[in-house]
Amino acid sequence: MALYKYPSLITSTNDSVFDSIHTPGSPASHAGIYRCEGCGREMAIAQGHSLPPQNHHEHTQNQGLIRWRLIVLADHRPH
Ligand SMILES: [Zn+2]
Repeated sequence: MALYKYPSLITSTNDSVFDSIHTPGSPASHAGIYRCEGCGREMAIAQGHSLPPQNHHEHTQNQGLIRWRLIVLADHRPH
């Protein structure tokens, strides 16, 4: 599970970008932290990079295929 220390630096949102499930190896729609829906493993993905491929890590049969969900979006806008 992703951790943080300072609540003032993280904002909750209902943005639909967090609802999509992404195919392994596809271009990441946003920079940030992605979580595998099968096993909970998390990965930080830089802007313009692709999500890890299907052979990135091993799953049990019950965990199924690797599917990625954006869980923390990195805000690249200047403040
Ligand atoms: Zn996994």
